[in-house]
Amino acid sequence: MAGLFITGTKDKATKEIFYSIVVDATPTISILQNPIGYLQGINSQRSELLRSELNIVTFKDLLEHFPYRHIDRTRVDKIASIQPNQDYAYVSGKLLQLEIMGSGRSRRLVGLLKDDTGLLELVWFQGIAWVQKAIHVGNTYLVFGKPGFFMGKAQIAHPDIENFSRHQAGGKQSLEPIYPSTEKLKARGLTGAGFAKYSSELLQKLTEKDIPENIPGDILKQYKLISRFDAYRQIHFPVSEKMYQQALRRLKFEELFYGQLRMQLIKMRRHRFSKGFIFSVVGNLFNEFYNHHLPFTLTQAQKKVIKELRQDTASGRQMNRLLQGDVGSGKTMVAFMGMLLAADNNFQSVIMAPTEVLASQHFESIRSYITHLPLQIALLTGSTPAKERKKILAGCAGGTIHILIGTHAVIEKKVIFKNLGFAVVDEQHKFGVAQRAMLWAKNEIPPHVLVMTATPIPRTLALTAYGDLDYSVMDELPPGRKPITTMHYNEAARPRVMDFVRAEISKGRQAYFIYPLIEESSKLDYENLYKGYEEVKAFFPEPRYWISMVHGKQPALQKEVNMKRFISGDTQIMVSTTVIEVGVNVPNASVMVIESAEKFGLSQLHQLRGRVGRGSDQSYCILLTGRKLGNDAYERMKIMVATGNGFEIAEKDLEMRGPGEIEGTRQSGAVQFKLASLVNDKAALEAARASVENILSTDPELENPGHIMIKNYLQQQKAKTKWSKVG
Ligand code: ADP
Ligand code: MG
Repeated sequence: MAGLFITGTKDKATKEIFYSIVVDATPTISILQNPIGYLQGINSQRSELLRSELNIVTFKDLLEHFPYRHIDRTRVDKIASIQPNQDYAYVSGKLLQLEIMGSGRSRRLVGLLKDDTGLLELVWFQGIAWVQKAIHVGNTYLVFGKPGFFMGKAQIAHPDIENFSRHQAGGKQSLEPIYPSTEKLKARGLTGAGFAKYSSELLQKLTEKDIPENIPGDILKQYKLISRFDAYRQIHFPVSEKMYQQALRRLKFEELFYGQLRMQLIKMRRHRFSKGFIFSVVGNLFNEFYNHHLPFTLTQAQKKVIKELRQDTASGRQMNRLLQGDVGSGKTMVAFMGMLLAADNNFQSVIMAPTEVLASQHFESIRSYITHLPLQIALLTGSTPAKERKKILAGCAGGTIHILIGTHAVIEKKVIFKNLGFAVVDEQHKFGVAQRAMLWAKNEIPPHVLVMTATPIPRTLALTAYGDLDYSVMDELPPGRKPITTMHYNEAARPRVMDFVRAEISKGRQAYFIYPLIEESSKLDYENLYKGYEEVKAFFPEPRYWISMVHGKQPALQKEVNMKRFISGDTQIMVSTTVIEVGVNVPNASVMVIESAEKFGLSQLHQLRGRVGRGSDQSYCILLTGRKLGNDAYERMKIMVATGNGFEIAEKDLEMRGPGEIEGTRQSGAVQFKLASLVNDKAALEAARASVENILSTDPELENPGHIMIKNYLQQQKAKTKWSKVG
């Protein structure tokens, strides 16, 4: 997808932008576009099956249907030596029996294979008729598959099976590919090993000219990569394990290289064609505040990002910057300094927060920052009274309000700015794409946009999913923060936990009790929250203690009153759902108890925990879980206890859940690779990125003779897109 704010662009539109930059010549159709029906033995029925089962339509699809492993045909396992934890077994033996057993759902075909060491059971639940026709008692077969043990007996379900005569054992090592297949294909005789005859035939048809090199020679040399043609042959039919690894490395690099190229071309184009307001002066407001009213010394990371904002906004192109900073790293101040730059250049600013609580907190902070500055600010939310609202709208349209702070309310149609120059979206992942686009649509020339997110995502993911955006990281917390102590207990320890919380409160601190999210429809969650509230109340009775309760379904006013009482210290305890997850800042709150912590994901736990540890006191986060935890849940608790670093947690999250699941990343093809993995191929990704940057910085149009291959390859991709649209 294109940049967050070139929105409305789905993948297709982006592709068009992307290709139109690079591609202008007429596309040529290569042999790789041939339908697989052109191969021997693939009739129309089989073609259709390959299409519906594996989406394999063309030669290219088949070429890119990579084997998931190779087996060495010269090494045959003895049945007696098969181990339960073995990945696959490859056995040669005589078929002694083949009969149908059971009936109804347990109906199955069972074969018995014998070698000189023992017996192996073969089982089929599907495609029985086909198997019965294909193999015969008394013959010798080669059998391949993942062994299991049933009642102590070795067994392979749905094995790959073939006649022994085709493969005489012995001779030199020969690695044969095993491909992903499906039950349905296997039942029709296209087993994981069966694909090999097609890929082999295909590779014989292809010459070097059909798989032309698409990575410049100097890069191949630099990273010691084998040629593309060799890589495709070796990944299917490697001459050795080492060559297979070489092939894999080369093709992963190619994937990452073109992924990065695509992102950076989109970014380049945006930089070149998107006009932006020019904040040419760093004027009085910025300097006055910076020199005289900063409430604290900025961290190096804050300074760095402010400098980036200054450069961006002075460049003449529209800024579209993603700011990632861990919870508590001080993003608000950075945004505010950007607003001062805007004001210095007579532009208005807006900051949009995902909740009212957060919006009013931003309002209070910014109000305190501007005490000595001649600036007008306003807070606009869903609950702003009509009269006040009218005044604010007039102020925005007339230009008397310099900074507007609010919730979604700020992007409503009625809100018109005189000259909006800078827009900040806080806690990005809470907003949908459409809402961000509306912010952008407010001007003919779009305002500079700063998107701030407090859910760090791993660098590898950021590079791939957000590689088209300008991207800043604040990886430093303000000085003096004490690391939060995190502990994990099961419910049995609840009384002890309560004692601990009581002791902290008696020192003047405040505490949060967090319950799993209230879903719109989930009555159960409500009950949990109210039950929890009663429970907490029993431990902390009035009038000695006072408790606030906040949840998503409360009327706004009630929520606000409860929140304010906690912020002001009137209540010592906040019982809440995850609505307090984002942004809330109560430095005196130093204890957080997260109930049913196993129900939360890593990044959410980290977000929640970020609500404490904001003051100078030692803070605590207590994760309460059930006694029995699944492996994943246990692992999450362990990680939370072990580290407080959001970026580290994000890495773990990526490892545990995979790139598609991480919050804040777009559901885009950009993170889906055939071979490369964002977890395991970090170094390759960095290398690919550096190479792409290098190329584009000297040859943005890809016109150097050495880069023509890149252009040609992109062109070929385009041809394919068109072709499949027609087909
Ligand atoms: P986040 O990045 O999570 O949005 P905030 O902007 O809410 O963080 O800042 C968290 C707290 O840290 C606030 O109380 C803020 O005033 C304070 N803060 C921000 N920058 C600094 C700094 N450089 N030195 C000390 N405190 C800071
Ligand atoms: Mg914040």
